[in-house]
Amino acid sequence: MNFENRMKITAIETLVCHARMRNWVFVKVVTNEPGLFGWGEATLEWHTRSVVGAIEDLSQLLIGEDPTSIEHLWQMMWRQHFWHGGNIVRSTAIAGIDIALWDIVGKLHGVPCHKLWGGPVRDFIRLYCHLGGGDMEHFYRTPVDNAKRFAELAQQAVSEGFTAFKSMAVPPTMPIEGLKQIKAADACVSAMREAVGDDVDIMVDCHARPSPAMGMQFAKALEPYGLYFLEEPCWPESIEGLAAINAAVSTPIATGERITHLAGFRDLFAQRACDVCQLDITHCGGLSEARRIAALADAYRIALAPHNPQGPISTAASLEFGFSQPGYVICEAVHADVPWRRDVVQESFTIDRTTRTVTRNTAPGLGVSVNEDEIRRHPFQQEVLQRVFYADGAVGDW
Ligand SMILES: [Mg+2]
Repeated sequence: MNFENRMKITAIETLVCHARMRNWVFVKVVTNEPGLFGWGEATLEWHTRSVVGAIEDLSQLLIGEDPTSIEHLWQMMWRQHFWHGGNIVRSTAIAGIDIALWDIVGKLHGVPCHKLWGGPVRDFIRLYCHLGGGDMEHFYRTPVDNAKRFAELAQQAVSEGFTAFKSMAVPPTMPIEGLKQIKAADACVSAMREAVGDDVDIMVDCHARPSPAMGMQFAKALEPYGLYFLEEPCWPESIEGLAAINAAVSTPIATGERITHLAGFRDLFAQRACDVCQLDITHCGGLSEARRIAALADAYRIALAPHNPQGPISTAASLEFGFSQPGYVICEAVHADVPWRRDVVQESFTIDRTTRTVTRNTAPGLGVSVNEDEIRRHPFQQEVLQRVFYADGAVGDW
């Protein structure tokens, strides 16, 4: 599309910030309007160099284009040059740019992004944390044979004000295993429930470690504890397995963080494979595609709880989305992955630390300001590898 004297994208930059488990990939879309630029995030663990390269490839389509024609640009990024955008690297790259474009349009109109989409629809958003606040050791490496430690970390989350938290109480298992691991998961969840009582919401992320058969056993064993949701009880590729588990237990089944586009969610929803949609705004093509996925989820009355263990711009995007989406129920947030998290990005939303609830941002766009000098203090490093092997040496799922 051609317009005279239009605003133009002049550059798309990536700034990589090494944050231990992840390299945060921040995306800056710069315009020819002095001082007007937008921020996005395209963090994808263990694929940092690929995503940075994909953003460079996509930028060839966008330089010189009007940043306010977001849907037109999204269509170009998704469809042009033959290969569609659904692979995880490209959909993440598209997301980073798309989020930054919405930030630009919010700034241009002087309103927070949620107002561009008809919001706000609620007064506050509840946060849930990872056990240990999201640092690698506590969340990912607390062994499931230590139920007492799970209970201690659960109490710690509650003492920090959280009313909901997520744990990884389901260990890697071979496609079929005996009772030992089921009993271990049961003991961990039992200990956490005992420690925090019935008023706190507990989530368990299986990380798609189990097979459908094992996922069914874990789901049934944990059903009595009234989990808020049980996440990825088997591989996302096994929609039938997810659907069978979702039908067999009253616990809401959550999935979606590895699904990158609308048609993937259509297949998931149509088979009633989940009750909680965990689209990841930084992986599913950004806020533009997330809004389409949300509309589809709404038709099935499926809740939205976006996946968000990444950096602070991803969190800001999730919250703006949440303040515009009726089906949004809770925001995933990590706060203790690196101690300098808040030195890198300053947010405009407010967290009540006694309740861990967020009141909305009133600054334009995503309401984030980014300290580029601080980012440069944490240059790219290879992410810590997280490799899993079963007892017999065969490859397992992290
Ligand atoms: Mg997960």
